[in-house]
Amino acid sequence: MHNIEKNLALIQQKIELTARQFQRDPQSITLLAVSKTKPVSDIQTALRCGQHDFGESYLQEAEHKISALDGNPIVWHYIGSIQSNKTRKISALFDWVHSVERFKIARQLDAHRPLHKAPLNILLQVNIDNEASKSGIPVHEVSTLAEKIEQLPRVRLRGLMAIPAIHTDPQQQREPYRKMQQAFIELQRRHPQCDTLSMGMSDDMQAAIAEGSTLVRIGTAIFGPRL
Ligand SMILES: *Cc1c(COP(=O)(O)O)cnc(C)c1O
Repeated sequence: MHNIEKNLALIQQKIELTARQFQRDPQSITLLAVSKTKPVSDIQTALRCGQHDFGESYLQEAEHKISALDGNPIVWHYIGSIQSNKTRKISALFDWVHSVERFKIARQLDAHRPLHKAPLNILLQVNIDNEASKSGIPVHEVSTLAEKIEQLPRVRLRGLMAIPAIHTDPQQQREPYRKMQQAFIELQRRHPQCDTLSMGMSDDMQAAIAEGSTLVRIGTAIFGPRL
C-alpha cells in the first residue's frame, strides 16, 4: 500500500478511537490534510482515498496546485499568515481561511470575494498561549472582532483556530485547548452559526479532540516530514 493511503487510514482510525474515548461522535471531526510543500501528485493520491479537505500555507504554491487540480472535488483551506496585498487572490481561490486576526483583512476578503462563489468561510486565529512570536488575537478580543465581522456580507464567520505552544505531555497539551473550547462555546452563544473549532496537528491531535476540536489539521502524519 502507498504510504499516504496507509497513513490516512491510520489517522482516520485514530480520530475515531479518540472520539469514542471522549464520548464524541467521530463524524463531528473533519480531517484537514495539510499538503503545504508537498507535490500535486501527493494530493491526487489522497483524493483517490476519499480525502477532500486540503490545507495550504503559502499562496504562490497554492495557486499552482489549485489550478493544476481544477475540476476535482476539493475544499481548499488557507491556514498561513495573510499579508494585506494577498487578500484578493486568497479570497478568490479558497473556500476557508483559518488565520484571520484583523478586521482590515476580513474586510478585504469580504470585498474581494467573487460574486459567483458562496461567502468565504472564516475562522479567527487565537494566540491562546500569548506567545510574542505567534500570530492571532488574544482570547479576550474574540467577541469584539466577531461582532464586526458578522456585519460583512461576503464572509461567514464559522469559528476559531489555534496553534498552541508545543508540549509533549498530553495533559499539558490539553490546557490551551480547554481554554479554546471555552472561548468557542462563548462565541457560539452570540453567533450560533459558528460550528468549527480548528485545532490539533500531527503531534497533539488527541489532546485537541479531547477538548472538543471539530477539525484537525494534519500534515506530517499523512504526507511525511517536510524538508
Ligand atoms: C503545517 C501546519 C499544520 C500541520 O502540522 P503537522 O505537524 O505537520 O501535522 C497544521 N496547522 C498549521 C497552521 C500549519 O501551518
